[in-house]
Amino acid sequence: MILSKDVKQKQEKYRDARFNNEYDDIWQTVGKCTFCDLNEKYIFFEENGIVMTVNLFAYIDGHFMIVPRRHIRSTKELSQTEWETIRKFTYIAKKIIKDVHGIKGVQFLQKEGATAQSTVNEHIHFHCIPFDAPDLCEWNFRKLKYTPLQNALLYKNARKKIISYDKKYATKYHNTSKMGVVCDLIVLNTNKQVLFQHRKLEYQLSPNYLTLPGGHIDGTEKSFEQELLREVKEEVGVLFDESKLKLVDSRVGNISYAKVVHHIKASYDEVERFVWNTYLIKDIDPNIKMKAASDCQKLEWIDIKDITYADNISEPMKKVINKIL
Ligand SMILES: [Zn+2]
Repeated sequence: MILSKDVKQKQEKYRDARFNNEYDDIWQTVGKCTFCDLNEKYIFFEENGIVMTVNLFAYIDGHFMIVPRRHIRSTKELSQTEWETIRKFTYIAKKIIKDVHGIKGVQFLQKEGATAQSTVNEHIHFHCIPFDAPDLCEWNFRKLKYTPLQNALLYKNARKKIISYDKKYATKYHNTSKMGVVCDLIVLNTNKQVLFQHRKLEYQLSPNYLTLPGGHIDGTEKSFEQELLREVKEEVGVLFDESKLKLVDSRVGNISYAKVVHHIKASYDEVERFVWNTYLIKDIDPNIKMKAASDCQKLEWIDIKDITYADNISEPMKKVINKIL
């Protein structure tokens, strides 16, 4: 990589700032949330709004961070998907630090709360720090007042608090499902045709199969059927009658997505696993007015007897549709 003299000097300043104790001076002049304004050129991976980005002011060679794009202050605000993504990223972090820097150990460091953060803004971030020797985290141990048993007792005596936080967390933050839920709908018209959607480029599966209308259930306040019908309306422009829905199949299913990570110029397939419910609505007017939108670019009615032979419909999907014959 050829850099201009200016850029080279700046890069070397970043590199040496911690070691030369210049960091605090530089930091004071920033004055805004740097994590809301990440520099794309330092990001090397991203998924579900979580990025892996190199630090400007690394503690050690190979140091990087896992940061949500959203400005949130605490782990409790992370959605199930974001948290799960971070869990995966810590796995990738450990592997990649060993591959690139030959260091087997990693320290994951995450700070919360105003005094602990001190100089840093409150946007949550997880440091991934290659750990080859203990000198990087010298602990300044304090003279203790409590023995281990006394310390345990203090927390045990706070049991009412712990229980109330546990309950509060359950109602406020705990997601209802560890596995995502997908609901989709077999729309069958009076000509014995099933409605399929061609997916927009950025939402395509791999292989590029046709799908039924429907998708991820994100909300938790409404029923699966209501969430499904809302999603279907977004995609096809029709609000179907909830009382006519019938559950045809419920299973754990896989979808293979074509994933693109532009930071490392990569595209590859990735499998996601869901609880997957398929519903049926029948006796629909073949001439019903529809409009493809959302992740759907085109709609197509396919004769139910032709579905077995269609090579752009997945085998598990055919099995499910077979159940209604
Ligand atoms: Zn922020």
